[in-house]
Amino acid sequence: MDDPSLQMPLPANERFDAVVLGAGISGLVAASILSSKGERTLIVDDYDHVGGNHMDWMSTEGYTFDVGSLIFQDDSPLLRHFPELLPLYVPIAPTWGRLNPQGRITAYPISVRDDIIAAGPFAMAWMGVSVLYARLFGQKMNNARDFARYWVGAYFLRRSGLETYMSRFYGIAPEKIDLDLARKRMGWISEHASIGNILKKLTRSKAAGTPTNRQLARPREGFSRLYDTAIQRLKGAGVSFRLSAAAQNIVKTDEGFELRLENGVVSTGRIISTIPIPQLERLCGFPSKSALDTITLITLYFSFAGHRGFAQSIIYNFSLDGAWKRLTVYSDFYGRVNDREYFAVEVVAGQVSTVAEAESDFRNHASSNSLFAGELTLAGSQILESAYPIYRQGAAQRAAEAVKSFRAFGIESMGRQGGFNYQPTARVSTVEVEAALGG
Ligand SMILES: Cc1cc2nc3c(=O)[nH]c(=O)nc-3n(C[C@H](O)[C@H](O)[C@H](O)COP(=O)(O)OP(=O)(O)OC[C@H]3O[C@@H](n4cnc5c(N)ncnc54)[C@H](O)[C@@H]3O)c2cc1C
Repeated sequence: MDDPSLQMPLPANERFDAVVLGAGISGLVAASILSSKGERTLIVDDYDHVGGNHMDWMSTEGYTFDVGSLIFQDDSPLLRHFPELLPLYVPIAPTWGRLNPQGRITAYPISVRDDIIAAGPFAMAWMGVSVLYARLFGQKMNNARDFARYWVGAYFLRRSGLETYMSRFYGIAPEKIDLDLARKRMGWISEHASIGNILKKLTRSKAAGTPTNRQLARPREGFSRLYDTAIQRLKGAGVSFRLSAAAQNIVKTDEGFELRLENGVVSTGRIISTIPIPQLERLCGFPSKSALDTITLITLYFSFAGHRGFAQSIIYNFSLDGAWKRLTVYSDFYGRVNDREYFAVEVVAGQVSTVAEAESDFRNHASSNSLFAGELTLAGSQILESAYPIYRQGAAQRAAEAVKSFRAFGIESMGRQGGFNYQPTARVSTVEVEAALGG
């Protein structure tokens, strides 16, 4: 984002109908809805770019990676707000796989053949007994582990690597994860574990499981190429931007609010916040009661020459060890550079806390599972704080109380961070903001 006007100080005491805090997907959609209703809107973000956690990283050699793994679809409701994004995306044909605890790259999220039948008759019998026991005696659930165990049984939960993957994914042990979140967001476990679906999987053709929409990646040049068009559309609709804004505090006034930025004060009748709840508590001068934790994501960027031990572009780590969570081979989407493949590896900070530790852990684990045979070079890395909320037990309730107290103060808080909502896709973020603002 090279437009310096997006970071310039505002004229003294400029007034807006609405200020949107955060220029991620939720903030952009909020501004699109408000401006379409004729509200003079300002978007404020601490980052120097729009798109929030949609971030990329380019190496000097020409490799191009994302923080995490970001895949979009051509039927996303986001395109209703920003139709000019569609021709800029790169159509891709990703395939997903999973490293299971037995060291095999197999189907994601579960393979009947490799995870059940290959276990042999004795283990299969144990799986059956364990599921039966869980269904009979596991109806009283307190956390995500209880939920998953009820559906697949304790034995399969551990043997399939699902339990360790849940810890990696959510950043805490499954027995500490909120049950409501599990019920809402881990429905795929119950779907895959129902007898009817297992039978269907055994009998249906492979093509039946492939998505019907088109899968897309950001342009090779990066997210700024994509979201510059969103900026232009919003500017055309009268929306102003202040990036790198360093918001200081929010004060309630007779006419609404005053928002103090490092470079001036803005007054507004309305504030929509999509920033993390603890950040908004700080800006409003509220005591930090919510005690909400977020995950810090370390992304490692590698280039590689040699033999790759798997065909899929995205691999999830379901094995019992290794701190990494997922790897994405970007050269499958954008082509090799100097005949080298390149990929990003996501690691949730916790078990490892520095880039050096994450790299060493990944190299050892990849080598012991024969993922890469050849020359692997770390091209770079990035650490992203507040990547997503940690859904500890009780956290959703504390977040709901914080959102309620913002509302009593007059601020509408929503989005992945602002609503403490598990939003796996930009599609969900869009739909939830539309529902909140009537867009
Ligand atoms: C690792 C990862 C992988 C993902 N993969 C996919 C995918 O494959 N496909 C997909 O569709 N979606 C994916 N998502 C989800 C999607 O990115 C989210 O749904 C969406 O980004 C949520 O947007 P948001 O605006 O609510 O939050 P965010 O993107 O977190 O935006 C919040 C904004 O608030 C700003 N902010 C924070 N504090 C302040 C402050 N004090 N003052 C001002 N601004 C502040 C931040 O700078 C940020 O720009 C992924 C997300 C992550 C983290």
